[in-house]
Amino acid sequence: MTDTSSAPAENHVFEADVARLLTLMVHSVYSERDVFLRELISNAADACEKLRYEAIAEPALLGDDPQAQITLIADPEGGTLSVVDNGIGMSRNELTEALGTIARSGTKAFLERVAAQGGDNGLDGDRLIGQFGIGFYSAFMVAGRVDVFSRRAGSEEAWRWSSDGSGSYEIAPAALEDAPARGTRVVLTLKDDAKSFAERATVERIVKAQSGHVPVPILIAEKPDAEAEPVTDGSALWAKPKTEITPEDYADFYRGLSGQYDEPALTVHFRAEGRHEYSALAFVPGARPFDLFDPDRKGRVKLYVKRVFITDDAELLPRYLRFVRGLVDTADLPLNVSREMIQESPILAAIRKGLTNRILTALEKLAESEPDTFAAVWRDFGGVLKEGIYEDFERQEQLLGLARFRTTETGAEWRALKDYVAAMKDTQQAIYFLAGDDLERLRTSPQLEGFRARGLEVLLLSDPVDSFWAATAQGFEGKPFRSVTQGAADLADIPRLDAEKDQDAAPEADPATATLIAFAKTVLEDAVCDVRASERLTESAVCLVAPEGGPDRQLERILKGAGQAGEAAKPVLEINPRHALVKALAAASADAALREDAVRLLYDEALILDGERVSDARGFSERLARVLHQALGGA
Ligand code: ADP
Ligand code: MG
Repeated sequence: MTDTSSAPAENHVFEADVARLLTLMVHSVYSERDVFLRELISNAADACEKLRYEAIAEPALLGDDPQAQITLIADPEGGTLSVVDNGIGMSRNELTEALGTIARSGTKAFLERVAAQGGDNGLDGDRLIGQFGIGFYSAFMVAGRVDVFSRRAGSEEAWRWSSDGSGSYEIAPAALEDAPARGTRVVLTLKDDAKSFAERATVERIVKAQSGHVPVPILIAEKPDAEAEPVTDGSALWAKPKTEITPEDYADFYRGLSGQYDEPALTVHFRAEGRHEYSALAFVPGARPFDLFDPDRKGRVKLYVKRVFITDDAELLPRYLRFVRGLVDTADLPLNVSREMIQESPILAAIRKGLTNRILTALEKLAESEPDTFAAVWRDFGGVLKEGIYEDFERQEQLLGLARFRTTETGAEWRALKDYVAAMKDTQQAIYFLAGDDLERLRTSPQLEGFRARGLEVLLLSDPVDSFWAATAQGFEGKPFRSVTQGAADLADIPRLDAEKDQDAAPEADPATATLIAFAKTVLEDAVCDVRASERLTESAVCLVAPEGGPDRQLERILKGAGQAGEAAKPVLEINPRHALVKALAAASADAALREDAVRLLYDEALILDGERVSDARGFSERLARVLHQALGGA
C-alpha cells in the first residue's frame, strides 16, 4: 500500500481547448442549465457500466458492493450538490487525462462551430450548448468550484481534482475517507444564482425529467448523512414491452444515450426471436451531429450482453448508417466476449443484417406516412445514406428507393425515383442526371437545354458521393442512369415540346456546318477528342461532354482532384448548329484568323460554363481583345 496522502498538491494548466470551453461555461447565460446534471449522471452511469464489464474478468473488483448505483446529495445549507457513483473510478493519470483534455471529437467540433459563428462571447455558445451535450465541463455553468474525489476499483489510493474553471486545476492525494470506497464523488459548490440545485425537490424533478431511464438506479439524499431514497429504478427501457413506453420515455432515453438534445426523428424498437434472440432500440436523430462527416466517426450502436454494457465499437451497422444511435442487447453471446469474437461472430453478423433491414424498412414506412419528417431526415443524412448505394450492393435498389433528389422539375422539394420513373416519356430510355458541386450552377448548365426543350426531367446531383454511385449503380426499376454530360445525347427520337422548331431543315446536315466542324476539329485537335453538332443544346452555342464509356465530366474532375485520374480523357465539344453565332461563323466569308479566334473562344466559353478555367488565360484575353476590337470597327 502506498501512502500518497502526504504528497503535495500539483497545479496544472488546462489544454487550450479546455480553457476555451470552460470560459464558455463559466460565462454561460444559457437558461436551461439543468442539462449539466444529465451529463454528470451519464458519466456516473458509464463508470458503473465500465466496472460491470471489467468485473466479468475480475469479479473481486465488485467487493462487497456489487449493486451499481448513483447517489445525489443535495445540501442546501452547504450550497453544494454531489454526484456519487460506485463505478470504476479514476486513477491519478485517468483524472488528468479525462478532466484536463478534450477527447470528444464532438466537443472539438462544437468549439470550431462557436469560433466560426463569431467567437466566444457567449451568445452563440449558449445556443449551441442547448443543442448538444458538452460533457463534464458543463458543471461550470452552475458551479463556481468543482471537486472530484475518486478511487479506482481495486486501488488503495484516492485522488482529488479541483478547479474553479479559470485556467488551471489542482490534483492532490485525498484521504481515503474523503473519497467513495470505490468510484467517484463530484462535488459542485454552486454559484449564488444556482443555489436551487442544492434543493432536493429541484434535483428530483430534473432527474425524473431527464434521466429517468438511465440503466443504473438513482437515489437522492437530503444532507450528506441522511438516508438516500430511490428516484429511478435503473431498469432497462429496451427490455420493457413497447405498450408501456411513451414517446417521452423514448425521447428521454435517446437524449441520454446520444448526448444530443433534440427529438429523435425515428425510433425503431423491436425484439427478434427465433434463431437469434436480441432486443434492439435505435434512433435516427432529429438534428445532424457535429461530427457526422468526421472520417474517424464510428457507428454509435452499443452492444449489451444480458443487460451488461460490452462495447460501442462492435460496428453493429454499416458505415452508411453511422448517424443512427442505439443499442442491441443479446443473450446469445457470452459475457466475456473478446474483441476477436466480436469481429468474427456469426451471431453479430446476423444481428447486423437484421438491424439494418429493420431500420431501412422503418425509413421506408416513415417516407410513406410522414413525408415531411422523412424529408428532414434525408436533408440531414441523405449524403451519408447515399454511400450505401455503392457500398451495399445487396440493398442498392432499396436505398435508391429511399433516395430523394432535386431535379429540373423541382424547386426546394425532393423527388423520389419512383415518381421520376412514373413520369418518364414513352420514348425515354434512361434516368438522366447532371452531377456537379453546386446546385445553382447545375440548374443553369447548357447541357440541360435539349432535355428541358423536350420536357425531360434531369436529376441534379450536387453531393460528392453522387458521382460514384451514379457511375456504378445498376439502374432503378430497370432504367439505367445516364449522365447528360456523357456520350451522344440520343435525343433525336424524342420530339421537342415546341414542335415547329424541329421542322426547320436539320442544319447539322448543312455542308457549311460540316465544314465549320471539320475546321474546329483541326484547330482544337490537342484539347478535344471530337467536335460534333449537338442535340442537347437549344440556346447556348457550345458545351463540353465526356466521350462514351469514360467517366462523366464531374467524376473525371473529382478523380483528377484526388490525383486518381490516369491520362485524363479529352472531352467532346458540341456545337449548336441552330445558334445565330454558329450559323454566322459557318456562313462566314470571314478571314481564317477571325474564325480560328472564334472557335478557340467558343471552346473556352464551354470550359467556363462547366465551372472550369480557360485553358490558356493569356491567349484567351488576346483573342477576346482582337475579336472585340474588330467588332467595334477597329482595323
Ligand atoms: P464523455 O462522457 O463523452 O467521455 P465527459 O466530458 O462527460 O465526456 O467526460 C470525460 C471523461 O471523464 C469520461 O470519458 C470519463 O473517462 C471521465 N469521467 C467523467 N466522470 C466520471 C466518473 N464519474 N467516473 C469515471 N470517469 C469519469
Ligand atoms: Mg459524459
